[in-house]
Amino acid sequence: MAGNNKRKKILWILWVLLVPVSLIIAYQLFPPTIEDPWNLFAYVLFFVLMSLMPMNINGASTFLVQWVTVALFLKYGIFIEILVSQLTMLIVLYRSRTDEEQSLRIPFNSMMFLAVSLIAGLTYIAVGGEFNSLNLTTVITFGLIFQVASVLSNQIIYYLYDYTTGNRSKFFSIDAIWDFALMLLVFPYAIALYLFEAYIGVAALVLLGVPFLTMTVIMKMYNNSEQINVDLKKAGVIGHQLAARLETDEILDLFVAQVAKMFKVEYTYVIDYRDELQQFLRIYENDQFEPRNIAPVPYKKGVAGQAILTGESSIYNEKADWKKWVTGNFPADTESIMATPIARNNKIEGVLVLASKKKYAFAKHQLQILEILSTYFAVSLEKAGYMQKVIAKSERCGLTKLYNYRYLDESLESCIKELNEGRLDQLSLVMMDIDHFKSINDRYGHQSGNDILVQLADILREEIGDEGTIARYGGEEFVVLLQNYSKELAMLLAENLRKRIENHDFLIENDLGADREQQIVHITMSMGVSTAPDDSDEGMTLIRNADRALYIGAKQAGRNKVAAYVK
Ligand code: GH3
Ligand code: MG
Ligand code: MG
Repeated sequence: MAGNNKRKKILWILWVLLVPVSLIIAYQLFPPTIEDPWNLFAYVLFFVLMSLMPMNINGASTFLVQWVTVALFLKYGIFIEILVSQLTMLIVLYRSRTDEEQSLRIPFNSMMFLAVSLIAGLTYIAVGGEFNSLNLTTVITFGLIFQVASVLSNQIIYYLYDYTTGNRSKFFSIDAIWDFALMLLVFPYAIALYLFEAYIGVAALVLLGVPFLTMTVIMKMYNNSEQINVDLKKAGVIGHQLAARLETDEILDLFVAQVAKMFKVEYTYVIDYRDELQQFLRIYENDQFEPRNIAPVPYKKGVAGQAILTGESSIYNEKADWKKWVTGNFPADTESIMATPIARNNKIEGVLVLASKKKYAFAKHQLQILEILSTYFAVSLEKAGYMQKVIAKSERCGLTKLYNYRYLDESLESCIKELNEGRLDQLSLVMMDIDHFKSINDRYGHQSGNDILVQLADILREEIGDEGTIARYGGEEFVVLLQNYSKELAMLLAENLRKRIENHDFLIENDLGADREQQIVHITMSMGVSTAPDDSDEGMTLIRNADRALYIGAKQAGRNKVAAYVK
């Protein structure tokens, strides 16, 4: 920031040395002859009106006011042209930029515009151009020289600037070609305005201004419909990409990054609306995800709160439009904001907020496209949620909600792969089987047996937690996979578990009794442990080894025991 301040200071010092001094010299050397100040006033008024009509070409704002500048130059000379060009610069900056950057951009652009004015104006004088001439050939020839000099010097200055800042752009860029084309388009208007005004006065402004404004409006409309087509296509592509994703997080990341890119915004936020609060799900600033946490905000607050309360999307063109709702979560240089509710089944689930440092950054059609996108987004999220439920169901046992055999099998294979690739050092497997479970069923009924299985699953989850993967392997057989567990450590864990189960009071309602009274039952379990790579480096063999340990080492040795596999 200190460097920035220094640059600011240098720029302003340069500006003070160059711009006012040049203006004074220009005034001294080429004093304007203003016979009709009211005409000049009308000209400037007309000029300001024109400047307020920017056109978006190739994503950049283009101002078609050159023709008025040229006419002014031909009539009043270099000094007035410099003043009016400086005015254009201020209007362009005001329309398109932020307050923060202005202090750098104003002196810089002012000097650039001054240089262009001086080069073009002095070229005109050097080749013998005169002011206030009414000779058609002279006006056209010298006027064209002035125009070409002005467009060329502008192009060269910006090219050199880019070059010195290490930005090697092409000299004949699309923008440069547009500049030339627009110059050819507006040049006849400039000549016509100049000559017409000389003969009939201010009425010329109206006569030429009306068709010109009409043309600008038509081009603007054409431009807009072109832009809508481009944006709709982009939205379609994003929609397809979202549809291909099945993970909620993946969808969120993709959506946020793509939307930020498409609308060229600096800040993007996805806000979840739940429990009367706004919670920030994603914060994407200057092309990256911000890990910082924003404390939840009451749902009615801020720009997003407005979207939740009204259910409508909105555009805010500048800070003043949304300042009254400020929650302090937008970066200080935010100007334009576009917010749209994210709704599912007519219920608002969240808000998507895009923010730009530019004023007037968003067009109305973009809001409609954002609404379409937020619908794609909501549908994709719903689909992902549904898929995740289906996947979760297919991975788990319906009774105990533990993982099922299929999941265990896949998990075991991936662990073995990690082990063989050296990403995992050890893997222990504990297989367990309830002792004499058949007699429990026989005595209390199958339903009571199931209740015991459910309670047992809870104990397993409690005891093992995130330490391992717990699966229901068969009827009353369970397997626990323990990554990076040595055999000794796995035996210790199994032994603790065995003790806990042995001492646990399982509560059942006697299925077979007449009055289904509650009853406490005790069970015990036998367990077998095998470890990779000591015992085997193959998944199926590891299971078989644990099974052998369980039957030979535990069941046959009297049950309620933990046994290790021995080769
Ligand atoms: P042990 O293991 O000690 O040798 O004796 P066991 O009686 O437990 O024999 P085994 O392991 O072969 O047990 C299988 C019995 O477990 C058969 C069946 O009654 C019971 N069982 C298996 N799956 C379920 C289930 O889902 N619910 C209920 N209630 N019982 C089940
Ligand atoms: Mg069994
Ligand atoms: Mg058993």
